[in-house]
Amino acid sequence: MKTALLLLVTLRAALMAPRKLPHVPDVVFPPVPDDARLSSEHLRLLLETNQDPEVQPGLFQGDMALTNEMYDFWRVGLRWDVMPERMWQNSTVHYVISPLYDTSEYVTIYNAILTLNFLTCIKFVPWDGKADDFLLIWPVKYPHGCWSYVGRFGGPQIVSLQPPDEQGPNCLGDEGRSIHELLHALGIFHEQSRADRDNFVDIHPENIIPEFQVNFNKESLENTTYSFEYDYGSIMHYGQYYFSKEKDRPTITPKKKGVRLGQRREMSKTDCLKINALYGCLDKSTYHRRKYYTLCKFMGL
Ligand SMILES: [Zn+2]
Repeated sequence: MKTALLLLVTLRAALMAPRKLPHVPDVVFPPVPDDARLSSEHLRLLLETNQDPEVQPGLFQGDMALTNEMYDFWRVGLRWDVMPERMWQNSTVHYVISPLYDTSEYVTIYNAILTLNFLTCIKFVPWDGKADDFLLIWPVKYPHGCWSYVGRFGGPQIVSLQPPDEQGPNCLGDEGRSIHELLHALGIFHEQSRADRDNFVDIHPENIIPEFQVNFNKESLENTTYSFEYDYGSIMHYGQYYFSKEKDRPTITPKKKGVRLGQRREMSKTDCLKINALYGCLDKSTYHRRKYYTLCKFMGL
């Protein structure tokens, strides 16, 4: 009886014990919708033309890993009524920051996490070794660059942030690119793919590497998820030269004078409100609504 009890206790302890981190290989194969899949030649072209680190991974629109199923639905963005399983439960996101980062890189990523925790009701918490779903923030070697899955995928899921090297700061010059990729992981798409974007920006197909014109597609009107104004200052907006044939030929320019595209410094006011709206932070109570509106008001230019 005593032995059986001991066995039961041991078994229970083993089951409850925190799990070890999964092994993360240097080369991973995130899902890419069939329509957006690139040949190895095209992927090489991206590296050789020295593109932005968000363009280099060669995933959907550069830095977003998503499945065929999501691509078919993608025009609706991550609407929770269509894909509830992609939402992080209880607005809680467990994460692990790779031990491969050095201290300053770690601090940059950690600052991005602290910023999101401060400005939203979403809770990024260190992985407790028990939660099934968590982010592995990792400098995988391939695909190279900054990229993320869109929304919760289930199980450990990579957010790839390339540390600085001889080419430049890559994804860790400051916290902005980490925030950009974490917002993808929470379910946010690129701003310039909005249905109404042609009222606000011009696309220059003649300057885009032909194979990547698909990355400039937009959503259909009936599926616009957010009721926010078009946001030139969004941290989720493409830069002017993304996927350009040559460095000085813009692929996207604003119709409005005096605005700049593609900032990766901080969330804009609208980014801040958008992510709070997506996770219901503004509807929790009058107190929360006021709190997050006030915090977001101070963001951006
Ligand atoms: Zn992106």
